[in-house]
Amino acid sequence: MFVMMNEDRFEEERKNMVRLLRLYGVSDDVLRAMEKVPRHLFVPEHLRDKAYADYPLPIGEEQTISAPHMVAMMCDLLDLKRGEKVLEIGAGSGYHAAVIAELVGESGHVYTIERIEKLAETARRNLERAGYRNVTVIVGDGTLGYPPAAPYDKINVTCAAPDVPPPLLEQLKSGGKMVIPIGRHSQELYLVEKKDGVVMHRKCSVVFVPLIGRYGFSEP
Ligand code: SAM
Repeated sequence: MFVMMNEDRFEEERKNMVRLLRLYGVSDDVLRAMEKVPRHLFVPEHLRDKAYADYPLPIGEEQTISAPHMVAMMCDLLDLKRGEKVLEIGAGSGYHAAVIAELVGESGHVYTIERIEKLAETARRNLERAGYRNVTVIVGDGTLGYPPAAPYDKINVTCAAPDVPPPLLEQLKSGGKMVIPIGRHSQELYLVEKKDGVVMHRKCSVVFVPLIGRYGFSEP
């Protein structure tokens, strides 16, 4: 009974979050996906009351789950379609990967890389509990991409890089898109399009944790 009441409350809060995102101009497809993903299952238990608030939350290991509006904006920029193969760098809680998994459907697949093993384990557990089978969580340095499943239709980078890591560009299909925050103290979100050449579109100022790895920043 108590569990039921909580689930009802979370569903109501999720609807309110989606109402707010609609006002921001988020697409119907992304709104539908975000209405399905139980974000409260991806945040630490003591923060569940805040799961549907529109700001980032700590997930342990000094990392964060991005704010819902940022997840929505990045998904819209990638223009995700059913059946696509997506690489994500920075699995964190697994939430963003779950939203992408909804958008690409069961005929698509999400590969998400996390450098911190403990977070990767939590992301795997969260995704399993929420019922996502089209997501593979990999532990490693995401700046190297994930060659076994390359090339990718889309790449989603959820931490801020010094520049676009060359392996990610190599593993993006021709005609593919990548979103990536770039910068250390002052960061900008870029949409990168790979066509005949590479076109970088600067979108807005953002705040993300750093991408740490061979083609990222060095360990703090
Ligand atoms: N997408 C996540 C979610 O939905 O919860 C939020 C990601 S959090 C803003 C950024 C994540 O990137 C952190 O978990 C961090 O450990 C990870 N990260 C940083 N550098 C990385 C790298 N080189 N490879 C893989 N993950 C990395």
